[in-house]
Formats: sequence, C-alpha cells, structure tokens
Amino acid sequence: MSSKLVYWFQEGGEGMRSLLGGKGAGLAEMTRMGLPVPPGFTITTGACISYYELGEKMPPGLQENIETHMRELEKATGKTFGGRQNPLLVSVRSGAPISMPGMMDTVLNLGLNDQSVQGLFEATGDLRFALDCHRRFMQMFGNVVLEVPHAEFEQALDIVRRAEGASFDHEISPDGLRRLIGEYRRIVKDRAGIDFPEDPLEQLHMAVLAVFRSWNNERAIIYRNINKIPHDLGTAVNVQAMVFGNMGLDSGTGVLFTRNPSTGEKHLYGEYLLNAQGEDVVAGLRTPIHIDHMKEELPVIYQELNTLAALLEEHYKDMQDIEFTIEHGKLYILQTRAGKRTAQASLEVARQMVYEGLISKEEAILRVKPDEVARLLHRSTDPNVANQVLGTGLPASPGAAVGALVFDSRTAERLGAEGKVILVRPETNPDDMPGIVHSQGILTSRGGMTCHAAIVARGMGKPAVVGCEAMRIDLDARTAQFGSLVLNEGDTVSIDGASGNVYLGEVPLVEPVLGDAFLEILGWADEFRRLGVVANADTAPDAEKARELGAEGIGLCRTEHMFMAADRLPIVQEMIMASGEEERRAALEKLLPIQREDFRVILKAMAGFPVTIRLLDPPLHEFLPNAEELLVRVMEMRAGGAPAEDIERVEHILREARNLHEQNPMMGLRGCRLGLLWPEIYEMQARAIFQACAALVKEGCEGILPEVMIPLIGQTSELAILRELVEKVATEVKEEEGVDFPVVIGTMIEVPRSTLIADDVARYAQFFSFGTNDLTQMVYGFSRDDAEARFIHRYLELGIMKENPFAVLDREGVGHLVKMGVDLGRSTRPDLVIGVCGEHGGEPQSVEFFHQVGLTYVSCSPFRVPVARLAAAQAALKEKARQN
Ligand code: ADP
Ligand code: MG
Ligand code: MG
Repeated sequence: MSSKLVYWFQEGGEGMRSLLGGKGAGLAEMTRMGLPVPPGFTITTGACISYYELGEKMPPGLQENIETHMRELEKATGKTFGGRQNPLLVSVRSGAPISMPGMMDTVLNLGLNDQSVQGLFEATGDLRFALDCHRRFMQMFGNVVLEVPHAEFEQALDIVRRAEGASFDHEISPDGLRRLIGEYRRIVKDRAGIDFPEDPLEQLHMAVLAVFRSWNNERAIIYRNINKIPHDLGTAVNVQAMVFGNMGLDSGTGVLFTRNPSTGEKHLYGEYLLNAQGEDVVAGLRTPIHIDHMKEELPVIYQELNTLAALLEEHYKDMQDIEFTIEHGKLYILQTRAGKRTAQASLEVARQMVYEGLISKEEAILRVKPDEVARLLHRSTDPNVANQVLGTGLPASPGAAVGALVFDSRTAERLGAEGKVILVRPETNPDDMPGIVHSQGILTSRGGMTCHAAIVARGMGKPAVVGCEAMRIDLDARTAQFGSLVLNEGDTVSIDGASGNVYLGEVPLVEPVLGDAFLEILGWADEFRRLGVVANADTAPDAEKARELGAEGIGLCRTEHMFMAADRLPIVQEMIMASGEEERRAALEKLLPIQREDFRVILKAMAGFPVTIRLLDPPLHEFLPNAEELLVRVMEMRAGGAPAEDIERVEHILREARNLHEQNPMMGLRGCRLGLLWPEIYEMQARAIFQACAALVKEGCEGILPEVMIPLIGQTSELAILRELVEKVATEVKEEEGVDFPVVIGTMIEVPRSTLIADDVARYAQFFSFGTNDLTQMVYGFSRDDAEARFIHRYLELGIMKENPFAVLDREGVGHLVKMGVDLGRSTRPDLVIGVCGEHGGEPQSVEFFHQVGLTYVSCSPFRVPVARLAAAQAALKEKARQN
C-alpha cells in the first residue's frame, strides 16, 4: 500500500481504483482527459484503513496534508476557504473501490459560516440564495456528520415555513432563514452537545472522519455481507471545489446515461433541473425534466453533453452514467461510471459497440453476464394487464405461472397431470417434490431466497414466489387468505417469480423474445467456444425448444419420465409386479410400441444430431403408489365393505410396494443394477430405440444418431455385460428390419468408483457422461433432497461452504474426480467423447471448469442452453487471454 495519503485529481487515474475508490478514480481519469471537472483531491482508502488500524484515529500527517492541499486549492481557484470575500466551498464525497450504497451521504457547501455566507452573498448578489445554502449545509452537516436526526431540522423548518405562510422552501424570506440558522445552532448544541463548528478546516476534518466511520456503519456492513465484498477495502474521501447549479436559470444539475439503459438505444437519456443543486434531481421535490428538452432550452450545453458522452464512451469503451452541473452556462462533470442496465440493454449496447468499432466481438461476449441471458429466457406476466395484486413475496425463481391453487403435494400431482396448478405451502420439504414436479409454479408464505422451495425451483427452472407474508394458509380448510379475500382450492392465481407478485386470476403470460442482439451475440459466442452444448430433453417439444435455442443434440433423454404418464403407469406397474419373467416380458411387450413411438418422435426432431438415451435409472418403487397411502386405502375399502377381490388387488400392490422398499433407494437397486437383475427391461428399451431408428431410416430420415447410455456403472463388468446385451439387440433389429444405422454405447460416470477405474471402463465405453448430481451426492455423502431441505442453507449461513455444491460444481472434490475420470478415460481412448449432463452443465462457473478439464460437451435443460453457449465461449476466451 502506498504511503501517500492524498492525491490531486490530476495525479490519479482509472488504474488506481483500489486506492482512490471508484468515484475518485473516475474524477482523476476525467481530469486527465481534460474534461471540465471542478478541481479537488482524493484521500486514499489506505488512509481509511490506517484510521481503523489506529483504533479510529486520524492517521499521522493526514491533517497537515489535507491543510496543505486546501491551501493549494485556494491558489488554484483564486478563492479563500471560509473567506469573507470570494469564499471557496467544497463538497466532501465518499467513494469505495466497489460501488456501495449505505455509506455516508455527500456534504455540499462545506466551508460556510457566518463570515463566508456574507462572501457568498457578495459574490452572487443574492442574499436569499446565500442564506439558503448556509442553512442547507448546516442541516446536511448536522445530520450526516453530527448524526442529529433529520426530523429535528425538518420540524424547525416547518415552523418557520408556517410562520411565514410559505408553501415552498424558496419562499422563505432572508429573515426567516436567519431565524432558522439560529434554530439549527440550538438543535445541534442540544442534540450533539457541541457548538456548530465555524472553522472551515475543523468542519472538513470532522467530515473526513465521518466518511471513514461510515465505512463500518450497519447499512454498509450488511450490504457488504450480502454482496460478498471484503470488509477491509476501506473508502476514499473526495474533496472538491463546489460549483453551483442553483445560481439562476442559466444554471442547473442533472444525471444522464449515454444510452437508454432499458433498451440500449444510442440516445442521451436522463433528467435535469434548472436552478437546482446536488441531489434535487433524485430527491423528488421538484419534477425533473427529460434531457430531450435541453435541446431547446440549452442547445449549446446539450451539444456539449453529446460530445462528452461520446468522448467518455470512446475512452471507457462502455455506456456511462454521468452526473453534471451547470453554473452560469458552464458545464461541469461531477461523476462518471459504467451505467447499470437491463439485460436487453446490455446485449444491445454490446452489439452496437462492436458495430461502432469500440469493442471487439470477444469483448462483447465477455461483457454479457450469463445470468442476464438466463433472465431473458423466462416468461413474464403481461405488464399491460391490471389484475389485482394479492401480495408480494420474494422473487425466488424467475418466470411466471398461472394455475389453480392446490395445498398439498398429492393433489398437485393428481391435478397437475391434467391441468395447471400452483402448489401453495407454508414452506416446502422433500416430500413435496412430486407435487412440485407437477406444478407450474410454487408459492409459499414462509422462507427466504435459500429455502427449500427457492432452491428446488431455481434448479428446475420453475417460477417461485416465497415468503409471501400477506398470505394466510389454512391447510385444514384448504384456503389461502389475502386480507379479507379468501381463496379456495381450485381458484386461479398467477405468480411472477421475477417481481415476487401474486395476482388474482389469470394474467396473460408473455413469451420471452429472443431479440436480434441476443441471437447475434450468441452466434458470435459459437465461433469462440470449444465445448459442445447439447440439451437434456425427454419429449419432442423439449427437443424442438432445445434446437431453437441452439442445442446441438440431446445429451440426456430420460426414459423413466416416459413411464410416468397416466396411460403407461398401469402397464409399468404390471411389469413391476409380475410374478416371474414370463409375466414381466408380457407387460414389457405392451410397453415396447409405446417406447418405440417416444423414441421415434424425439430422434426425428433431432435428426442430424446425436440423441443420448439413458436406459431406466430410478428405483422401481417410484412407479408404485406410496405404501402408507395404500394402507389407508385398504382400511377404507374394508370399512366401506368393498368386494374382497378389489381389496385383495390393492393389498397385492401394498405387499409389492413394501417388498420394494429400500433403506436408501438412492444407493439401492437402480440404474444398471436393474438392467443386470432384470435384463428384459433394458432389452425392451434397446429394441424400442433401434426399431425407432430402423423405422426412421426407412422413412428416408437422414442423420439418425442414437447413443445408448448405461447409468450408474461402478464396475467394468457391469458395463461389459450390458453393452453386449444392447449390441445383440442392435444386430437383431438390423437383421430383422434390413436397414443399417450407427450404434454408439457409452456410460454415465456418477459412482465415485467409476472415476477411479475410468481407464478400464473406457475399454467398453464409446463415451462418458458425468452425472454430477449423483456424483456430488456420493462424493459428499449427502442425499440431495435431505441436504437441501435440512442443512445446506445452514452450512451456507455458517460459512462452512461457500456454494451449494448441487448448484455450482465443487471443483476441489467432485471436480478432482471429474478430472481424474477424464484423464484416465483418455489414456485408454485418446478421442473419448466426454460430456456432463445435469444441472451443472448449464451453470456458468461449472461450465468454465468443464472447459478447463477438456470435456467435449455440456448438456443442460433447454432453457439453459443459451447460458451454456455464452459461458462456454467466455471460458475459451478467458483461457486465450491467460495464454497471451
Ligand atoms: P452519490 O455517490 O450519492 O452519487 P456524490 O458524491 O456523487 O454522491 O454527490 C451527489 C451529488 O452532489 C452530485 O451528483 C452533485 O450533483 C452534487 N455534488 C457533489 N460534489 C459537488 C461539487 N463539487 N459541486 C457541485 N455539486 C456537487
Ligand atoms: Mg454521484
Ligand atoms: Mg444419476
């Protein structure tokens, strides 16, 4: 850290952000560019850090240093600090290295006292103006530095205003203002226990210390905690000569964006006020004027602002947010920073800047945040519809949904299979998962951004509003009450997970528009990325959506979802409960044509691209009703005198459900273990796949590229046996149908053991696909649903882990195994195709890691595909930058 505690604006620059803070670095940079910035200096963040190291004391030498700088500032401006004639006044402004609300407000007009106010009057010829500046300064200083509550001053102001019969501050007479100033002195003496400081240097030192102190006020600390900003950066303090926007109608102040921050359109966008100072524009006391009006009102200044905007953009290569003040027709710039913008504007600005030659395509890609892209891909509620807002909760997972209220998971499952439902719960837990799956959206009355419902919904890309405290749920009566309005199960509501609003009735939903800028930038991203991007899709509509969003194939087609549909489930249950192989084969025979049709449509939708189909994975009990529920049903049937054979049938299912019960299904009889114990299941699935291929080839479809994926392999022999089985079926079908098609067989790598023996596994696998969800579960020894419901959020709060490893891949542990699997696998087969399927494949930080370890592709849900394309390009570009 430099030992120099104070820098003139002309000594600093953008590269010194950490020392001068964002505002100070910007002022310095603009000064060096020769822009009209009022002169001043910056006290460094290092001084603030020393202040704390010294136990909240002014660092040695700082006071003298400030005084020397003030003397030089007097010389430079030809004014005297606190002078009786031509007084120099300054603003004291805080500025941290990272933009941070919650810190000290700016103090304007510092240096005013009984003497200099006279000087200000003489310099301007306006007594009312001078006195008003003085009383405003006392109020600001009293509140911000001396911490006297604002209301105290406002009360005194109100009394004077009434006594004078004035409706606005500027109608108060000079006498009234003098009285007010006296009153303010009394308030400060009373509340702060000191005389209001008259010595300008004392005012300045006190203000500087107040800025240092504000670094650790409660608001600032909370903000840093939420935004993961380190607590030891410190803040800088900027001391700057005042310019006056309140000197008449040729003066004013304003803020502007160099482009429209909601659309990105290249056109000055902002507001200003004539005869106003400081924060008057944002304070909302007077209505500011749109900057377009300035074209007529102050054409010369407008032209100057346009020129400045172009200069600053050219210099910073980004859209800027500027604060300016005009004093007697002369323009001053008081701040510049990168302008905050909507996702849409962010893409448009980046694209336009490439056209304008300001930035390269690479820079444009690196600048777009993957989260912004994700936000653009969700549906939203139509803003033009005026449905009643019932309440507002936390916007836990973006997107909008309409549906009938249901109050429990089972009902959601039942009704959600046929229509659209919104699951409403006080809070959710893993038992609610089936209901969540079948709901359009989730609404809870309790919980925060990391509650179970929020985490699950974000993971599944489902809209969710949580912690909607305006809602009273009565689970027994099955009602949700908002104020005096009581809604019953089945009543329709709409939720918007981006705003947190809950609406009565059906609000039309607006499909996301993938604007030109979006498509063009993603197109550029494709030129730079090395990772392939494919999608997880189980149905033809999903496959089409994935193609539309740029997926180059399907990396995970789950066959179990096909078993869950209402028309198949009874057959699947028949198959599960069969008394022997023969009965089981008979049931499978009925499933075969259904599966074949499933595969045919999906392979067709993806013609030209590979489709990776995973054979049956989940434990079989998932296809049977829950044992407790069956038991209740049996008891009800008995009580109601149902026919004996009906009762017997349900009892049979109950026995079977109990039979299939496992202590720990996640690690039980599932995946390839099912295929090894009951080979006829995988045999049927393989046959369905290959018959579908044969049919498509016969139809004349080209580019049918099936890939069969065997799940949960932990030993090479498991894969060897099943591969042979699948190959045998392929050969049979080819002979029966008399057509040829390529057959590729690979495995999921999701059991830790398979990563350790990946070189051996690769002898039998033509591709690997990392199942990082199961791998994470087994590497941590966490069952995901239990972990997310019960303790991960606590771990995050306690700082035991930084990220939920099911959302962001854990590089050290799980990632280490992934890397090992990649290296071992390629040691056997150098050209081994290796991908990842599962949520991590669409999460930007994880995608970067997958790029780094050399995966061939990532696979993610269709709506994450654009995010993955962008993240993959960014990973490649960052790697290139590191190599240079
Ligand atoms: P914030 O960080 O809240 O934007 P600033 O330090 O930028 O606070 O100050 C807020 C406003 O105060 C500025 O936009 C400007 O209008 C006014 N201001 C600050 N310094 C000066 C100055 N030297 N002369 C005139 N106005 C100033
Ligand atoms: Mg500002
Ligand atoms: Mg798995």
